[in-house]
Amino acid sequence: MLTARSSAEAHLYMDLHACECGSVDFERRHRLEQQGDEIVSVYEGACRQCGTTRRFAFRTAAEIPPPLPAFGGSRPSQIIDPGEFADVAFRISESVGVELLNTPESEHHKLRNAVAYALAAFEEIAKFIPSGENAVPESAFTSEAGRARYRREPRNFERGILDMNIRRTRAVLAGIDEAGGPDEAGEAGGADEGPGGAAPDA
Ligand SMILES: [Zn+2]
Repeated sequence: MLTARSSAEAHLYMDLHACECGSVDFERRHRLEQQGDEIVSVYEGACRQCGTTRRFAFRTAAEIPPPLPAFGGSRPSQIIDPGEFADVAFRISESVGVELLNTPESEHHKLRNAVAYALAAFEEIAKFIPSGENAVPESAFTSEAGRARYRREPRNFERGILDMNIRRTRAVLAGIDEAGGPDEAGEAGGADEGPGGAAPDA
């Protein structure tokens, strides 16, 4: 059975495993089941695209789940590989990066959760590096998507590059926090409209 360290990890696993019709969207009704002496976390519901019943059962990890948005504690995931975490981390950071450039600073707080999620995904990759080593070993890539990612960009799984990506994402998060939340939009001196207000392609 699958072991999930947190509900965030269970949800990401389900996001990564689509229905035969290609959709990952289903009504994720959640319940806990006692199976033997284990508590099993079950998500079940109809695929919103084709109606097929989808069902995932996760053994809950013995360790106490970490606070959100972390996917788990210090041990690596048993169900999501480092290449899959990299797919998520880069996809979100890239799309958020574009959005940050195209939205006023007063709106940036809306992107905070997405950046924190990407950061948590980058941090998961580092957990696959054995102590005393400097890169994720090839054997850690167990999914097809993960192996493909590793073949394309092996350097992203070296500690130096990974640390850089983690630092960069933390800096983005810090920048968002400095810009302040929705309650701090006082903007003494008036809003600066900036020069890009009338982009013709908008
Ligand atoms: Zn379906």
